[in-house]
Amino acid sequence: MNQEEPTLASLSTLKPLGQIRNSFILAVNEDGLWIIDQHVAHERVLFERVLKERAAQKVGSQRLLMPIVLELSPAQQAAFSEISDELQFNGFEAEPFGARSLAVKVAPAGVDAGSVEHMLHELLDQFSREEQSLNLEKIRARIAASIACHAAIKVNMPLEQNKMEWLLVELAKTDHPMSCPHGRPVVLRYSVKDIQKAFKRI
Ligand SMILES: [Zn+2]
Repeated sequence: MNQEEPTLASLSTLKPLGQIRNSFILAVNEDGLWIIDQHVAHERVLFERVLKERAAQKVGSQRLLMPIVLELSPAQQAAFSEISDELQFNGFEAEPFGARSLAVKVAPAGVDAGSVEHMLHELLDQFSREEQSLNLEKIRARIAASIACHAAIKVNMPLEQNKMEWLLVELAKTDHPMSCPHGRPVVLRYSVKDIQKAFKRI
């Protein structure tokens, strides 16, 4: 594997060939062969988009057909009261419902109703485990990462050719296309040199 950072320009010339197990996109260009994890690639795209929309106070949201009521542990309740303003700025409309429940009426665009409960529990658990209070920037990044993860294309999902092309174009436009918000790699690259070496041509 070649560790040198590929340029953004080289990402934008990628041509997708197909998927491996409906999860990893194979793509080529003059630099070599690339393998892209479709979930984390989309996560990176959405993460940067949510952060930008948050900064402009324009995070997209959707009204749920029915409010989702979730029960919160005392620790989750405490975390909710700490981050509720920021959740609202990120497209959530949620309010206390009874003594220990939360009614969610509006969720960020792209997060389907079935994921909202799991996502909020996960987020509130993360915040409640935090020893010292986080600064606003970290809170925003964590919420954006969670929205991105839950709204992103999943693995084991067949993608049409134009969907793969779209994803690679969007990835090329991000500031940090090579890793996801959690630090996982998005792209593996086998440079032409790697390939030539393996075939003993150089
Ligand atoms: Zn994820």
